[in-house]
Amino acid sequence: MEQSCVLVRYGEIALKGGNKGMFERRLKDNIKKMLERDGIGECTIERISGRFVLNAKNPNAASSAARVFGVTSASPALKIRPALEDIKAAALEIIRDVKPSSFRVTAGRLDKTFRMTSVEVNNTVGGYLKDETGCTVRLRGAELDIGIDLAKDGAYIHTHRIEGVGGLPVGVSGKVLCLFSGGIDSPVAAYLALKRGCDVTLLHFIHDEKNPKPGKIQELQEKLAAYHPSIKLLYIPTGKIEKDLVMNAQSKYRIILLRRIFMRIASRLCHKTGAKAIVTGDNIGQVASQTLDNLNVIDEAAGVLTIRPLAGFDKREIIDIANKIGTYETSIQQYTDCCNFLLPQHPETKADLATVKKIEEQLDETLIEAALDKGYEG
Ligand code: ATP
Ligand code: MG
Repeated sequence: MEQSCVLVRYGEIALKGGNKGMFERRLKDNIKKMLERDGIGECTIERISGRFVLNAKNPNAASSAARVFGVTSASPALKIRPALEDIKAAALEIIRDVKPSSFRVTAGRLDKTFRMTSVEVNNTVGGYLKDETGCTVRLRGAELDIGIDLAKDGAYIHTHRIEGVGGLPVGVSGKVLCLFSGGIDSPVAAYLALKRGCDVTLLHFIHDEKNPKPGKIQELQEKLAAYHPSIKLLYIPTGKIEKDLVMNAQSKYRIILLRRIFMRIASRLCHKTGAKAIVTGDNIGQVASQTLDNLNVIDEAAGVLTIRPLAGFDKREIIDIANKIGTYETSIQQYTDCCNFLLPQHPETKADLATVKKIEEQLDETLIEAALDKGYEG
């Protein structure tokens, strides 16, 4: 079938009552940016009764739009005059071209101006195709499903549906800051936050100042940009902080202390940028720093809401998502981050806040401000 446009369907946002207009504007804008990123070329986007029509002939336009959060599915389509004769002729050309063993017609009226009901269109067009070609009609499990969306200004014929990523358009839920380690988990956590409409900025605490933009971290940002083209990445160097911890804190507490410093720095950046939450890739019980006792002590240092989208996932489930979104292969590349560097042989699993606060008195507070000052963009 020749493609003259793409039909883009969106789900959840249609339910959001008063915010609907804002959600649709954001979704349209995000689709535009994704098409630009993917080099689809100029195209106009119109809204027709709860879906968008992209006037794009590029065969990759539908899969590009399907990667935009908020989109439930996209179909390459052919727009024709909304007249029964034209619909029959176009459908006949498709069925002759595909030569399926069975087919069905699935019409839907996007507005009620078309004079026939969708059932009448199914029967009339289906009967005509059967008579012309002798092909079998099969309502369940047909090899070819000819979709016909009927609108005032045209009929849209399509035969393929690319599943969209779902969720909410990035931006509608506000900004968040994702603690981004470059491991397997945090890119998945960032993806899930994007999926719920959060405008995510990635924050990486960097150990090795001689390598200010590590290939692995930059590559992961690029992978996530496939879902949010303008995703930002910030680096904060932690070399001096790590040294201070090695000098002044018992080894078993160092990771917890460092994670509290992460929380303080991230909270400051949230207030500065208007981000409303910190997102992390923590998972209950996966590593020593992630016992509920330790997470409580770590959270106490945060000045904003902390969200842990992976709290209840098994590692296998996280890896499945990492593979699906394309981050896994990059995540498993060898890399020394500040947490590996400080990892003790016997980490504390039941940190106690009073003890931790006592050790913190020995640490150099000014290093936090200094690290913030040395932050830079990726
Ligand atoms: P991940 O696979 O995301 O690294 P993990 O299971 O290895 O997670 P930790 O290394 O304890 O667990 O880290 C838990 C979370 O702390 C990470 O998911 C991330 O949100 C944050 N984090 C750890 N190291 C860094 C870092 N260097 N920069 C930014 N955030 C970090
Ligand atoms: Mg890690």
